[in-house]
Amino acid sequence: MKKAAIIFTGGTISMAIDENIKAAVPALAGKEILSYVKDITSIADIEIDDYISLPSPYITPEIMLILAKHVQTYIDRDDIAGIVITHGTDTLEETAYFLDLNLRTEKPIILVGAMRSVSELGYDGPSNIVAAVRTAISLDARNKGVLVVMNGDINAANEVMKTHTMSLDTFKSLEFGPLGIVDDNQVLFYRSSTHISTHIPTDKIEEKVYLIKVVAGMDGDLIEYYINKDAKGLVIEALGRGNVPPMMVPAIKKAIDAGIKIILVSRCPKGRVFDNYGYHGGSKNLRELGVIFGGNLSGQKARIKLMLALGYKNDYDYIKSVFEDEYYK
Ligand code: ASP
Repeated sequence: MKKAAIIFTGGTISMAIDENIKAAVPALAGKEILSYVKDITSIADIEIDDYISLPSPYITPEIMLILAKHVQTYIDRDDIAGIVITHGTDTLEETAYFLDLNLRTEKPIILVGAMRSVSELGYDGPSNIVAAVRTAISLDARNKGVLVVMNGDINAANEVMKTHTMSLDTFKSLEFGPLGIVDDNQVLFYRSSTHISTHIPTDKIEEKVYLIKVVAGMDGDLIEYYINKDAKGLVIEALGRGNVPPMMVPAIKKAIDAGIKIILVSRCPKGRVFDNYGYHGGSKNLRELGVIFGGNLSGQKARIKLMLALGYKNDYDYIKSVFEDEYYK
C-alpha cells in the first residue's frame, strides 16, 4: 500500500465551535480529524504530522518558507508517495503557490481545508481529506505542481482562488476551470495546467514587499508611504488591462528610480495585463517607465512570487524574466 504524509497546519478543518464564545477556534489534532474519516487506512498508509495549528490568517510568508523546508523532508523520503497539507482556507492559495514556486518534485503535494468546522452540519473536512489523499497517491497527479483539492475539484496552485466566503465550492480556477475531479474513488484529470510555475529555489524571502489595490481617483500617497518604508518590491493591482489614474504616475516613477521592483497585475479576477493603452497612466506608458507585468496573477499571488524572487536575486532583469517569460512571448 502507498504511503501519504498528512501535515496538519490548522484552519477550520481542525476547528470546533467554543460554546462560550459561539465561534470556531482551533481544537482538533490530526488523529481526531482522521477519526471522522471512515476507512482512510484502506486507501493509503498514513503518516500523521501535527506540525502547527494556526488559523490561516496567522500564516506568514516566513512560516510558508519554514513549511517548504519541512515538506522537502517528505519529498526526500523514498517511502512517501505523496504529501497532503491541511490548511485554513483564507490564505491557502498563497501557501499553495509559495510551495509551487519554491519546491520541485514529481510527487503530488496537495493542499486541503474545510469550510465548515466539526461542530457544524456538513463538516466537509473528512470528504476533502479522502479526496486529497486519493490525489496524493495517484500516479496521474505526479508532475503537476502543487494542487488544491476541495469539494471534489482539483485545481492548480498557480490558478486557484478562494472566491466565496462560505460556500463549500469556494476554490475556483476562474479563467480555465479545474484540472480535474475526484469522483468517488477515481482521480480524473481533464486538462493540464496552463503552465508549470517558474522554479524559485530560494532559501530566503524579501519581506518588504507590499500590495496596493488601485481605485478610481487614487493618488500616489500610498506608494510614497512604501518608498519611505524602504520597500524593495510593490505589487500594484491596477484597473482593467493594467491602467492607473494619472495622479499615481509620478510616485510610480519615483519608486522605480529608487530601485523598487514594481509588478503590475489587474484587479479584474480574470485576464492578463497587457500594454495596449498609451495614455499617461496606461499600461504601455507604465511598462515604458519600467513596471513589470504580472500576467493574470492575482495581487496576493504576485506578492508571494515577488517575495521569493527578490529573496533569490534582487536584479531587475531576473525579476522581469521570472514574471514575464511565463506570460508574454
Ligand atoms: N478562517 C479560517 C482559516 O483560514 C477559514 C478556513 O479554514 O476555512 O483558518
